[in-house]
Amino acid sequence: MLEDKFGRRFHYLRLSITDVCNFSCNYCLPDGYACDSHRDFLSLEEITTLVQCFAQLGTSKIRITGGEPSLRKDLSAIIAQCAKTPGIKQVAMTTNGYRLEKDIEQWQSAGLHSINVSIDSLDPRQFAAITGHDKLESIMRGIDKALTLGLKVKVNAVLLRQYNAHELTTFLNWIKHLPVSLRLIELMQTGENTQFFKQQHLSGEPIKRQLLTQGWVQTLRDKTAGPAEEFFHPDYAGKIGLIMPYSKDFCASCNRLRIAATGKLHLCLFAEQGLDIRHYLLENDVQGLAVELTKLLGDKEATHWLQDGYTGATKHLAMLGG
Ligand code: SAM
Ligand code: SF4
Repeated sequence: MLEDKFGRRFHYLRLSITDVCNFSCNYCLPDGYACDSHRDFLSLEEITTLVQCFAQLGTSKIRITGGEPSLRKDLSAIIAQCAKTPGIKQVAMTTNGYRLEKDIEQWQSAGLHSINVSIDSLDPRQFAAITGHDKLESIMRGIDKALTLGLKVKVNAVLLRQYNAHELTTFLNWIKHLPVSLRLIELMQTGENTQFFKQQHLSGEPIKRQLLTQGWVQTLRDKTAGPAEEFFHPDYAGKIGLIMPYSKDFCASCNRLRIAATGKLHLCLFAEQGLDIRHYLLENDVQGLAVELTKLLGDKEATHWLQDGYTGATKHLAMLGG
């Protein structure tokens, strides 16, 4: 099992398969995707080598992300490859939902177990204002389809002072009868959103207090469960997860490593740089990569330095998939 010098174990890999995105979320790619250079994304063969290696080192869960992963034509083949790798027990994906309604059956047949869909507002006009796309109704139908197919569904909403802070009650009413886990994510500062961050960042702490006074109960989770704080309520079919990266000890439960779409290893979402491991993938060298990964993990730091305004090499989260 991959373990760092702070005793954190890494059984979860977030794999970006493209950094291209068709949305222009105001906190991520406000001017849309900048196609400014040729991007050489990992091929299916390279992904096969990578996933085999991580699985041998104890990874049991893979999240496919992007950019927008559903823009890749070979997405179903990538899901299938991850799902059939011995040792991988869960294949998840994070998507903006653009192709959800149309493709969810295909993804499930390929082996997808769970899906995170980003919905920052339940008001169609506000949703379009945030993302640049009037797609909310189709995405909602996609979520119903995913639930009917038996997939585990989480919905990601980034907390934004001016755009959705007033919608908490609407979101809560929505999950009263819908068994989805709503992840309320604090906006993170990145290299390119400094001004927007200053205007829009909203702490999750007051929301936590509000939930507790309304009868939501915090779930006790074990140390390997990752950094979300989770809440359930006996009267609600859905659950809530609060992701508060600026809170103390957020990094103590880190259980994940990241691979960028061009194959670099990122030890943290806000690492100073990606580490080059691609030649192992091109040469299908699973054992060589395993030795290298174990060595590189020695450099993983105890925490990000986001609270001090350092965002590392991360210009926006479409680079790495969040
Ligand atoms: N395009 C897909 C999507 O939007 O779901 C996958 C990639 S996106 C980068 C992954 C997640 O990161 C989304 O839920 C998105 O809302 C979130 N995200 C992007 N930028 C963020 C930021 N600056 N702070 C917090 N979350 C962010
Ligand atoms: Fe695209 Fe996801 Fe970033 Fe929105 S959050 S611009 S959907 S990568």
